[in-house]
Amino acid sequence: MITGDASYIKKMNRSLILKEILKEGMLSRADVSKATALTRATVSGQVADLLDEELVVEKEIEYNLVGRKPIMLSVNAEAGYAIGIDLEFDQISFAISNLQGSLVQSETMKLQATSYPDILSLLIAQIKHYQEGFAASRYGIIGIVIAIHGLVSTDEVIHYIPSFDWHDVPLKNDLEKALGLEVKLENNANLSAFAERVFFHHETDDLLSVTLYSGIGMGMMINHSFFRGQDGFAGEIGHMIVVPGGQPCNCGNKGCWEKYASETSVFQILRANKPEAEITYEQIERWIKDKDPEVTSVMEQFMYYLSIGLNNIINIYNPEVVVLDSELLRIYPDSLRAIESNLNSRVSHYREIKLSTIGKKSCSLGACAIAIQNFLQVPVLNLPYKG
Ligand SMILES: [Zn+2]
Repeated sequence: MITGDASYIKKMNRSLILKEILKEGMLSRADVSKATALTRATVSGQVADLLDEELVVEKEIEYNLVGRKPIMLSVNAEAGYAIGIDLEFDQISFAISNLQGSLVQSETMKLQATSYPDILSLLIAQIKHYQEGFAASRYGIIGIVIAIHGLVSTDEVIHYIPSFDWHDVPLKNDLEKALGLEVKLENNANLSAFAERVFFHHETDDLLSVTLYSGIGMGMMINHSFFRGQDGFAGEIGHMIVVPGGQPCNCGNKGCWEKYASETSVFQILRANKPEAEITYEQIERWIKDKDPEVTSVMEQFMYYLSIGLNNIINIYNPEVVVLDSELLRIYPDSLRAIESNLNSRVSHYREIKLSTIGKKSCSLGACAIAIQNFLQVPVLNLPYKG
């Protein structure tokens, strides 16, 4: 049907235009037309609609040149706000971003209890508080996305959160019923991978992000979508066995990767070896600077086991970009070079390994970015990173 086709094309053009404006932050109508290969008339018509909806705003740029001042378009940052929530094992972090993905508010609450009813009512109260706080904006809260450090099934039921001992919990349904708003649940490693792609690796189709804190999680973006596996549980890479018969793990196996290459494993070794000291990142950094032989050897072993797992992952995925998120790797001088020098296989290929710039915030910023992408219906979201 012609009308169906026309409205489909209109929708496609609209998302193309929004995508380019979001990516650059600010563009003139002529720039939009060049970037999208749409005619000036099409761009003008669509922009008129977006201005009506208050999703886009115009701004005259002051140049010291003679002639007309170009009118620039940007996404109306204050038209609505996204809530990204990171449900960690001992705390909940809330991030509120504007429609350009910039953080406008953040809050962290230490968790006293881990029971489902307690955390559910805490989440409801806090989200309602934000709903009221941002109600004056044109669209208010445009989406809520929650990072789950555990298994989320493809129908967004929490299958298992080890640290809370939650099994098959309907958090999405319960929140939606209480709030009257759509809520999305996503695995934390996926959200970190999404943030890395959206804020830094714009042209990347295949990105793996490996977070190395309490355990090891891997988020996989392939052709701009998550790779989830049949039930949604793919990426539990921390339980890949790297030392047969090695240290016992909570999962029931022995020798899992995260027993050797997570930051928790490093902290545990240092706590055992240096019982007199308080083990903090600052203290580890001082030891590394002073070339403490024990700490250097623990760090080298950490990077050695990290490299073994990375070698396996790279052989499976042949990724374009691998992003590693670890504070210890950021502290250690030339850590990437040390890791890459361990990756000697002639058959494994990747384009680059990078350290995450976003760090632990990647989870909640990725959550906000998903909410923005869904609200604006942009199939591929690219945003400038503003910290
Ligand atoms: Zn395990």
